[in-house]
Amino acid sequence: MSPLNLGTYAANTWCPGCGNFAILNAIKTVLSELNAEGVPLENIVLVSGIGCHAKIVDYLNVNSFYSLHGRVTPAAEGIKLAKPGIKVIGFAGDGDAYGEGLEHLIFAAKRNIDITMIIHNNRVYGLTTGQYTPTSPLGFKGRSTPGGTKELPLNPLELMLASGASFLARGTSHGAELLKQVFKAAILHKGFSLVDVLQVCFTYFNMYEYYDKHVYELKGHDPQDRQQALSKIREWDYNADSPIALGVFYKKEIPTFEQNFLGREKKAAETDAKINAFLKASS
Ligand code: SF4
Ligand code: MG
Repeated sequence: MSPLNLGTYAANTWCPGCGNFAILNAIKTVLSELNAEGVPLENIVLVSGIGCHAKIVDYLNVNSFYSLHGRVTPAAEGIKLAKPGIKVIGFAGDGDAYGEGLEHLIFAAKRNIDITMIIHNNRVYGLTTGQYTPTSPLGFKGRSTPGGTKELPLNPLELMLASGASFLARGTSHGAELLKQVFKAAILHKGFSLVDVLQVCFTYFNMYEYYDKHVYELKGHDPQDRQQALSKIREWDYNADSPIALGVFYKKEIPTFEQNFLGREKKAAETDAKINAFLKASS
């Protein structure tokens, strides 16, 4: 299947130059590849929230669910638990995931539920015309902070690592090849995976030049090593000159929530059956 076959009739209303196009193109390629490798498209469900990012599900001819603001993660978790065999991919903005929906993200990481979250982290509320978000830099001037923000940004990957996420990666909207690689690796990972994409909002926070100067791809990094992952995640300390690593920071195979949850259910049912059989035999 060519990536074009995943398109829809919906007119694209993203601004010219928006970093969302790179995410859309990368995910189209990855879904096409997965399909060619034997994953039926009907076994994939996309979930989005509220914000510019959310329109991505309008542009992909795949089963999808538009959730509420900040509620991409619980909607994705519910779908996964109802049908554990399918792949669930959540798309959320930085405001959506790291602001309104932060507690959901923490608990999904903690329980290692097998869903993939792709965060369109443009570090601004784009749809509502430029307010600051949890990842906007100190001093960011937007509609709600004309004098500049007075607070430091959150490091979402550090928070996710501390919360128990078993796969963490970062990409940018100027790195199509890397985006494809990390999206595919995240989707194939068994457990909670999150890709933080430095997706540039061309209209309200154009960081293309800044990122192009500061990003580099991780080489010789061992993603199994939690300490190494933490030090690479902390390397970008939001100072103007600090380097920004891209790629897979952390990956660990641990039991997923569904395995624990459904495994226990199965064991409980087997025990019930044994007790019932014993009671029947002795009555
Ligand atoms: Fe993209 Fe920003 Fe335009 Fe939204 S406002 S479509 S994030 S460039
Ligand atoms: Mg945003």
